[in-house]
This record gives sequence, structure tokens and C-alpha cells, in this order.
Amino acid sequence: MSNKNNWFSAERTGHGTKEWADYNINIGKGCSHGCLYCYASHMALRFGRIKDREEWLNEVIIYKNVTKGYRLRKGLIMMPTAHDVTGHYLPHVVGVLKKILAAGNQVLIVSKPHYDCIKEICRELSEYKAQIVFRFTIGTLDPVVSRFWEPGAPLPEGRLESLAYARSQGFETSVSMEPMLVGTDGAIRTFNGVEGHVSDKIWVGKMSLPRRRVDISRPDLLRAVEEIELLQGDEEIKRLYGHLNRHPKIAWKDSIKRHRKNGPDEAHGGKQMQTMPTMNDRLRGLDYADMALPASLPALFPLGWILATSVRHDQEYSHIYFGAAFILFPASYVTAYNCRNVLKHMEWEGPGMLKGE
Ligand code: SF4
Repeated sequence: MSNKNNWFSAERTGHGTKEWADYNINIGKGCSHGCLYCYASHMALRFGRIKDREEWLNEVIIYKNVTKGYRLRKGLIMMPTAHDVTGHYLPHVVGVLKKILAAGNQVLIVSKPHYDCIKEICRELSEYKAQIVFRFTIGTLDPVVSRFWEPGAPLPEGRLESLAYARSQGFETSVSMEPMLVGTDGAIRTFNGVEGHVSDKIWVGKMSLPRRRVDISRPDLLRAVEEIELLQGDEEIKRLYGHLNRHPKIAWKDSIKRHRKNGPDEAHGGKQMQTMPTMNDRLRGLDYADMALPASLPALFPLGWILATSVRHDQEYSHIYFGAAFILFPASYVTAYNCRNVLKHMEWEGPGMLKGE
């Protein structure tokens, strides 16, 4: 079976992982890389799936995702999105990738790559080369900065080695410079350092919501976040945009695209970078999405009451009540779920996007 579309080059308007792919697959919980800005660990902590950040370092395989079958999907699959391809996960990642690829899917493999793991993947999946793009995260070339923010991950030099290896084996390669761990000059150096080994795109993005995701109760991390905010302030991002925007391999992540929405840009004859925080930015911190679903559940009780009443008092029309309840229960759940997704979208973009800002 084959997937005739080229999902790698499809235009996407989503946010987060949806900016890159249409489906996510993970086979584990936890990641020994322990990145201080990690979105997945932040969410796991917030929803009680781990008790503290230490627990995130334990890598737990989700066997039901390993053993199940995978069918052909209409869209690009990204794997993994909430852990990494470490030695612990590798055999299961390879096994699942084989199933996904054998079904004809196209897969974006995203990683802070370990050289041995990438070698193994290249060897095991060489027959599916045309269905794979590697995207390696390299937010800086500075080993000290990398070790600070991503204490358990391979150093930049090792990641570059993996990138060069994958390319030399004939795989398509790309790089994510999101999150950038440096300012404009460091980002330009990183871009130039990786570009020669990249056949696809180099995605550049800021560190998202560092005050929410990094544990700023620790004074050293608060200082580090303040430094990142300075390095990635509006003027610096404007400068970076000016340097790299015309490069054919550049792709801006949403965190930077939002900076260039309105008005003329004197320096580049295009669109102006926004220099003031928008209402969207201010609203991004609100946790609407998490509250929506639980808050909507009480709305199901009146339906339960209708059902119970119909059984007790009105035998004649009970089948109608039953039918109504049968339809209304799932309908209200679906409505609540959709509300949650809309609100989740607002968390990413703020309500302004819904009004077409
Ligand atoms: S590699 Fe990814 S999943 Fe693992 S800790 Fe870092 S950001 Fe989180």
C-alpha cells in the first residue's frame, strides 16, 4: 500500500506539533533528557500523570501503543512528540515505525538525536527512506548552554554528527532550532553550522512560555529565563528575521510568525515586526482549556434526570425519552469536547485569532 500524497510539503495552519504534522504517535511516558523547558513534562505534571519533575526522567513504555496495529493515515505522522528516541525506547520505536511505514505512511522523526540510535534507525528503516524525514532539534551549538537547558540530551556536536550521518545515508533531513537557546548572533551561527547537512527546512522558533514551563521557583532558572527573554526580545527577533528570512531553507515557527503580522517593515519592505505584547500574548497564560471539559460535565445531569423520570412516570413515552437521552448524552459530550478544543486553540493563539486578527 502506498500513500500518493506528499504530506511533508503540505501547508498547515495548526500550532504546536500541528504546525508540522497531522498525527502524533508516542510509545512512552517520561524522558531522560530532562529539558528544563519541556512542554510534555509540564503537561504531565499539570495533569497529575507524574508527581514531580524527577519522575519525568523515568522512561516508561506504553505497551498498548507498541503492540497495536497502525493503518494508513491521510496526513503526516510525527513520532515521537512527548518523549525522545533514547536507548531505552529505541527497540520499541523501531518496531512501531516499521508498522507505521509498512502501512504506507509518511513519518517525521523528531529527536535530540543519539548517534547510535540514529545509526540503528537508518539501518533498520533504509527500505522506507522515501517515507521518512528526520528533524533534529539543535537550539544552540554551545555545549555549555545546551548542557544547562537539556541536561540529559546529547551535546550539539553529537547531534550534528547524527544529522550528517542521516544525510550521508540518503535520508531527508531537517533541523528544529526551536527552542532557540541563544540570541540572534548565536542563532545565526547555529543556522550556518547545520545548514550544510539539511536537505529540507530549518525551523526557527523562540522558547515558548518559559515562565510557565520552566521551574522559576529556582532562582538560577528564573535568571536563565530572564536572560532568554532579553536575548529573544522583539528587537532581537526582528534582527534575526532580517538576517535569515530570504534563505530558502528557513521556516519560521509560530512564535516568530506572530511577530510580523501588521504594517510595513522599513528594513525589509515586507511586514512589520510587532514590538508590543498583544492581547493574545497576555491571554496565552490562562488555563481555559483545562477547565472546559470538567466544567461541562454537570450539564449531563439534567439528561440523566430526564432518563430516570421517563422510566418512573411515563411508561407510554419512555422509548422516546430513552431515544432522546441516547442521542443527547453523546451529543453533549461531543459538544463539550469541541468547546475544549476551541478553548485549547485560544490558549495557543488567544481569542484574537478567532476574530481574524
Ligand atoms: S527531549 Fe523533548 S520530551 Fe524529552 S525532556 Fe526534552 S523536550 Fe521533553
